[in-house]
Amino acid sequence: MTLTQIGTADVHKITSGQVIIDISTASKELLENSLDAGASQVTITFKNHGIDSIEVSDNGTGIDEEDFDGICMKHCTSKLRKFEDVASVRTLGFRGEALGSLCAVARVDITTSTKNIQPRAYKLEYDQQGNLKNKQTVSRSCGTTVLISDIFRTLPVRKTDLMKNGRREFQKAVTLLQSYALVKVGLRLVVQHIDSRGRKSVLLATSGSQHLRSNVLSVFGANGMAGLEPVDFQLNISARFRLKACDMLLGVRGYLSNCSFGKGRSATDRQFWFVNGRPVKLPQFSKALTDVYKTFNHLQCPVILLDLELDPQFIDVNVTPDKRTVFLHNETAIMEALKERVTEIFSGQDMSIPKSQLT
Ligand code: ADP
Ligand code: MG
Repeated sequence: MTLTQIGTADVHKITSGQVIIDISTASKELLENSLDAGASQVTITFKNHGIDSIEVSDNGTGIDEEDFDGICMKHCTSKLRKFEDVASVRTLGFRGEALGSLCAVARVDITTSTKNIQPRAYKLEYDQQGNLKNKQTVSRSCGTTVLISDIFRTLPVRKTDLMKNGRREFQKAVTLLQSYALVKVGLRLVVQHIDSRGRKSVLLATSGSQHLRSNVLSVFGANGMAGLEPVDFQLNISARFRLKACDMLLGVRGYLSNCSFGKGRSATDRQFWFVNGRPVKLPQFSKALTDVYKTFNHLQCPVILLDLELDPQFIDVNVTPDKRTVFLHNETAIMEALKERVTEIFSGQDMSIPKSQLT
């Protein structure tokens, strides 16, 4: 057998396609960078469903000039120093892959300014390998704008698929961005679309309020707020399950729909999970709570918006490149404790389902 060691440039292309899977991951990686840079205002603009471009503009710290050469290099990050830091990481990003991967699959331009140099700013252009190929002085207040254009120009199959399913892919991206809009208090997030005729529409806008309720209102609307109850409690998982590990406390904060909610319409599209403010996929938790809910209201699935707060030492977020899958230490115990508590909450509620819905 003849073995070939694939060249670095090809490896880069192969792995980049795993980090930037679609329009959703591209836009969420950029939003995460803005949030890690401490931004309180982020505007995301999709042109032609993201097929033409995705622009993410923030008022964060900006990027220092000394970092211009490194930021689009694969595995270059300002968020980790050594592997062990993964265990305590609080930033949304830490793998140093997003910008480098975006360069491999799209055209990348970055305009940035820091508080020390504003209103002077730099417009930076990067090549496919993430090398800085052009730098120009422009004007901008403190913050960063990343413009991604012609996404998947190096991955023809994916490009064709995106052209065919642009609208659907774009919808998926908006749903993912909604989860950040819901959980991030104090963030003014605007998501807008410009169609091929230049018409602009705003799809999502939060006010920057410090209250979760205000975010939920902005995303779901006043009608969508109906039937939702705030939850905020803490569980001691170690004490309840006599676990040997040190104290494992679980904070739970967010909203759940009460048991008299709903007309038999599926609410599974409104089930959002977060771990320490990071939007994640926890389908097993959704199923567990849906099972509990169904014992009270068999006509409906619950609306779930829950942020689980745990000491980072009990979480492994480094499972998939998109960091949406997480391993939780003592997951079964956490789930049992949560089910128990939610059962108590539902039991204390008026669970009568209006007769009109019992058809
Ligand atoms: P990671 O987020 O895992 O560090 P990225 O490839 O997403 O990796 O970003 C590389 C680096 O570029 C970041 O560590 C950060 O220093 C810098 N950076 C990217 N986007 C921004 C931004 N919007 N504001 C400030 N710095 C940024
Ligand atoms: Mg990042």
